[in-house]
Amino acid sequence: MSALDAARSDLRGRLLADGVLIDLGSPGLYGRTGVFERVYAAVDAAAVRSQADLDAEVLRFPPVEPLAAFERTDYIASFPDLAASISGFTGDDRTHRALLAARERGERWETFLEPADLMLTPAVCHPVYGLIGDTVPEGGRAFDIVGDSFRREPSLDPMRLQAFHMHEFVHVGTPESAKAHRDGRIPGMRALLESFGLAIDVVPANDPFFGRVGQMLARNQVEQSLKYEFVTPVHGPDHDATAIASANLHEDHFGTAFGLRTTDGEVAHSACLAFGLERITIALFAAHGTDPDRWTSDVRAALAL
Ligand code: ATP
Ligand code: ZN
Ligand code: MG
Repeated sequence: MSALDAARSDLRGRLLADGVLIDLGSPGLYGRTGVFERVYAAVDAAAVRSQADLDAEVLRFPPVEPLAAFERTDYIASFPDLAASISGFTGDDRTHRALLAARERGERWETFLEPADLMLTPAVCHPVYGLIGDTVPEGGRAFDIVGDSFRREPSLDPMRLQAFHMHEFVHVGTPESAKAHRDGRIPGMRALLESFGLAIDVVPANDPFFGRVGQMLARNQVEQSLKYEFVTPVHGPDHDATAIASANLHEDHFGTAFGLRTTDGEVAHSACLAFGLERITIALFAAHGTDPDRWTSDVRAALAL
């Protein structure tokens, strides 16, 4: 086992042993206990307070999205390895008997299910772009969206979950207003995370876009500085720090895909700030221990705990 894997497994072991998380028997899937929920709720509330001046429209969505909406985001082109779909049983009695026989033999029976036209949502802002209509009003629109994200990336690192939540603050407007949303809010996000007693660096992100075309997209992301991550060294100073939040400029990606225009007829641009709620919560447990009552008064005050 590498030193990094040992550090990950050590943190995971501590969170399980101290009753913060409950192992559900599949990597990256956990139940949460009261102490986790207490800190998680405080993190989310602090994130919301920090963006209150945005006066964002609150929207909430289910954990699945229609295939047609998923299609338009082009996610399957960039991250097919992370995508996951819902399947259902559509067979007749005979197929059901075959399913049960396979199950009886100890075989995988889910192969008898058919893909439904539903995808698990990988990023919570996805459903919003289809709801905006053709034209974004003067000044743009801001949205407050929190919800479930699913990414098929099983891992024993407790910072890398398959099912998690992000709280996003999205802006759709002109190229200038989208960039201002992304850049103008980075210092405040950093200050918020630092007020939690976390060591934060803001670094350009390099997402693992899939395949050969993906290498080009990844290069473009770095060269154009499209995305910044707020990283903290949760596995110790010897290992790469982990992203607990991000600030992402999509440029015209969603504007083009969803046919969004500004009042002057240009393609709308968008940007989003994402707080990774489980990652921030776990980073707090890693930095300060698993008993929030023993955290310093500064940290508890910042979290209103
Ligand atoms: P990473 O580079 O670590 O895979 P990401 O770049 O894929 O993260 P984003 O797509 O920017 O992450 O998602 C926004 C935020 O959601 C991240 O900053 C992180 O805090 C959180 N997040 C992303 N993937 C996971 C995951 N698998 N488990 C828990 N939180 C996650
Ligand atoms: Zn987003
Ligand atoms: Mg990722």
